[in-house]
Amino acid sequence: PGLQNQIAAGEVVERPSSVVKELVENSLDAGAGSVQVYLEQGGQALVEVVDDGAGMLPADMALAVTRHATSKIFSMQDLVSVQSFGFRGEALPSIASVSRLRLSSCVQGRDEGSFLEILYGDHLEEGPEAMDPGTRVKVQNLLANIPARLKFLKTKNTEAKKCSENFIRLALANLEVDLELYSEGRSLHRFFANENLKERLSRVWPEQLCRDLKEVELDQGDFRVHGVASAPENAQARGERMLFYVNNRAVKDKTLISALKQAYKGRLLSREYPQAVIFLEIPPEEVDVNVHPAKSEVRFRNEKHVFSLVSRAVGKVLDKNYF
Ligand code: ADP
Ligand code: MG
Repeated sequence: PGLQNQIAAGEVVERPSSVVKELVENSLDAGAGSVQVYLEQGGQALVEVVDDGAGMLPADMALAVTRHATSKIFSMQDLVSVQSFGFRGEALPSIASVSRLRLSSCVQGRDEGSFLEILYGDHLEEGPEAMDPGTRVKVQNLLANIPARLKFLKTKNTEAKKCSENFIRLALANLEVDLELYSEGRSLHRFFANENLKERLSRVWPEQLCRDLKEVELDQGDFRVHGVASAPENAQARGERMLFYVNNRAVKDKTLISALKQAYKGRLLSREYPQAVIFLEIPPEEVDVNVHPAKSEVRFRNEKHVFSLVSRAVGKVLDKNYF
């Protein structure tokens, strides 16, 4: 199982930013109202995530670091309608196989928690721990036992930036949660609970891009598109501000990018790109989120429909006479 975990880790934990994503998603799945993330050395030396979510009992903690011990899927039906972020039970065991992991947790209503420590997949120690209800996961020396993978990490700054991008991606889709990211002891981003999307974006996008954001909203049957899109005159020569979510899960998808570009067609100068954050809500059976273990890719059952919906939703707000 040790080797199996290390192989799975190759798919799930490529770099510190993957750890940030998996751990914060777990905190969100646990119903946390507040999540803090701490990085040292771009996350390679330390990624620590602290939440005030439901917590785990000691027996569940031991299970959580065991392969495919997800508590989030109970039947095959669940597999087609996954609502939580996690559903494969791979992240914690994978991370534990390639780092020094300390998991501390205390269930709500108890006044003592417990901890569990694992080094490169081997159980080191466990015991009681005084802590507030919630969970604290400390991941140190990521990939230090796999030099061949460690050498693919970029500089500390680049890795920290990737961590920050994943953190922001999650923050934009979980507006009710208070989220803070620290690097080398310094607060990089703080999102307060119950800010709206524009408020959160204004913390991370240049001011002039946020001044003229249009609200996107289109309902059609079981499908809903919502979010914000910049006025074309505010577009800048950058391609990285086209962010998509499907059923609140961050995705990368060519159909969605081309639908967005279609909406801006004829409105942008060359090397200008749309800026938009688009949420697509669709019936679970219309999308397969299980294409890749890192789960950022999806496959739509009806691509044409999705394309037309998103391009219409955005096109509509760019120009009232557009359609
Ligand atoms: P998955 O999220 O796919 O279920 P993970 O390996 O990420 O798998 O987590 C394994 C299990 O550990 C989860 O199903 C959950 O029961 C538990 N768990 C992990 N992180 C937390 C957390 N922050 N708070 C409460 N429970 C957690
Ligand atoms: Mg998970």
